[in-house]
Amino acid sequence: MDLILLGTGSPPPDPGTSGQADGIVVGGRLYLLDAGRNVSRQITAAGFPIKEVDHLFFTHFHSDHFTGFADFYISRWLFGGGAKVPLKVYGPNPVLEIVNRMLRYYEYDIEIRAEEGKSRDGLDIDVEVLVPGDSLEVDGIQVSVEKGTHHGNVDDIISYRFEAEGRSIVIASDGSPTGELVPFARGADVLVMHPCLPDQIIELLGQTPEMAEIIAGHHATTEEIGRTAAEAGAGKVVLSHLTPPLASMGQACKEVGQHFSGEVIGGVDLMRI
Ligand SMILES: [Zn+2]
Repeated sequence: MDLILLGTGSPPPDPGTSGQADGIVVGGRLYLLDAGRNVSRQITAAGFPIKEVDHLFFTHFHSDHFTGFADFYISRWLFGGGAKVPLKVYGPNPVLEIVNRMLRYYEYDIEIRAEEGKSRDGLDIDVEVLVPGDSLEVDGIQVSVEKGTHHGNVDDIISYRFEAEGRSIVIASDGSPTGELVPFARGADVLVMHPCLPDQIIELLGQTPEMAEIIAGHHATTEEIGRTAAEAGAGKVVLSHLTPPLASMGQACKEVGQHFSGEVIGGVDLMRI
């Protein structure tokens, strides 16, 4: 089982990075985790046919985690012959509402193409609402769910742990660690976290120290990430989706490394770990 960082960018559009999305690769198939901007292009760039991606796991519904969802959905149906089976979408509330609203967005286009004879196979979405404590098996992959982070006023946010082929990968998602994250990530080979650098919020965004503290309170500081990884005994930490945008990944890695002696990887789009 490998992790591919499909998009490591921050929320604003950026010429050099794509929006937040990861891929878990097992048995040559890609399982999608969040669907930020450009996710369809990034799946293709990673060498996977979109029509063969049948599972999508969402961590939460800040828009930067699903701006690419609609494009992914319609591209999966339309291109390369199109998907033949329903898409399976997992996530916390309000996943069902997000899916139903997205489906309405393309109704017009779908009807036009179906009238011309395009098969409706692959259009359906099966939704599974997940809550902390859930665990499920998908194609032999053990998937566990926990509330691993606090993320401002987003109550419905979940972390994922994937186990297969003798490896374990934990995606914490945005936010500062809850007390559950260390036990949840215990012994993970790879722990993915999203750091916030309050100093750079002041420097790059011109915010006051007070505002920087509020923003930092919704995210994980580098110290929290380093301590979480050390206490959990993680094999390596992967950093992605920096706050603020344009913050220094080098500095983030250095700071995390002050609290964690394992490998710290500064995530880059399409990196495979
Ligand atoms: Zn978020």
